[in-house]
Amino acid sequence: MGSKGVSRRQFLKYAGATAALLGLSEAMVPEIARALEELASGKPPVIWIQGQNCTGCSVSFLNTNYPMVTELVLDKLSVRYQPNVMAAAGDVATKVIEDTMKDLSGKYVLVVEGPIPTKENGRYCTFGLEDKMVPFLNGRQRREDKPIEAWMNELVPGAAAIIANGNCASFGGIPAANESVTGTTRVIDYVAKIDKSKPVINIGGCPSHPDWFIGTILDYLINKKVPDLDQHNRPKAFFGQLIHENCERRASFDAGLFLEDWNDNDPDLKLCMFKMGCKGPVTYADCPIRRWNSKVNWCVGANAPCHGCAEPAFYKNLSPLYEPLPDIHFAGISALPDTLGWIAAGATAAGIGGHYLYKQLGKKEEGGEE
Ligand code: SF4
Ligand code: SF4
Repeated sequence: MGSKGVSRRQFLKYAGATAALLGLSEAMVPEIARALEELASGKPPVIWIQGQNCTGCSVSFLNTNYPMVTELVLDKLSVRYQPNVMAAAGDVATKVIEDTMKDLSGKYVLVVEGPIPTKENGRYCTFGLEDKMVPFLNGRQRREDKPIEAWMNELVPGAAAIIANGNCASFGGIPAANESVTGTTRVIDYVAKIDKSKPVINIGGCPSHPDWFIGTILDYLINKKVPDLDQHNRPKAFFGQLIHENCERRASFDAGLFLEDWNDNDPDLKLCMFKMGCKGPVTYADCPIRRWNSKVNWCVGANAPCHGCAEPAFYKNLSPLYEPLPDIHFAGISALPDTLGWIAAGATAAGIGGHYLYKQLGKKEEGGEE
């Protein structure tokens, strides 16, 4: 870093920002600085590929809150392949993947953005070319496109860990909504077909928050183990609390003060948006505390309901986006949204209700009874 004009003092500042990102105390800064220095010598290799995705998670990563930390991460890691930022293209780019698989087997982190389409022999998503020739126009031939399935089959066995970045990669997201014509398969399910023991970390979000991704990869590399995960394989550090528990409009929810018409949406009133479709009561993510875009704001703060994009139930089971959750159960009490104010005023209902509701949604997902 010295050769890049970064002083020791600045370096420690980055280490401090990293500690904040990971939710660690300042006492950990020297330890993080040491670990980051160690990373520099090892330069852990990362391969980042994209399946059925819109590149939104890549763009979100590049818009990180801590640009210098990202630079640091990119400098400390050896990001061998990332379709949106690498300069190389064609065979030159894909040869880097092949070389990494050959020379660094068991050492690289595989990042996958977007799920894997499995119908039609994976032809819905391809990058790079096979050696095999296939018929082309006017009797000519061309090299066959290489499906992401083929890349996954080759990359997964040698990966030290796999990060499914974003809701689509982690849970199917929008490509899996309704009936998927492409055979959309979650990364964790595809990996399990190859090697059940391979660790897969899911990072929800549509897109994923840059801190969630950077924090997870740093945590893994610094501590040399998979971070604590919840039941959906999400890092607890970022997905451990309900949005609803930390929402700035929670007092309105508890008081039964709900927004019911977008024309009345005076941001100063901070009316709860549950009746306008807010999925905060069933969504685990730290958005109200972490916020987005350099801590400028977050969905509810910007007068938009939480759509639950960090959850496995998103998009299919949390839509329509602007419709309230259909049937509410608070610790044994059932109610429709019309009577919710009355129930919400009953104090502890919401905290318990969040978990209870989640169970209900889970059942719905599995096709069970509500
Ligand atoms: S329902 Fe949504 S807007 Fe209302 S308090 Fe909960 S998270 Fe906030
Ligand atoms: S507030 Fe909800 S919809 Fe917005 S980013 Fe967070 S989890 Fe996603």
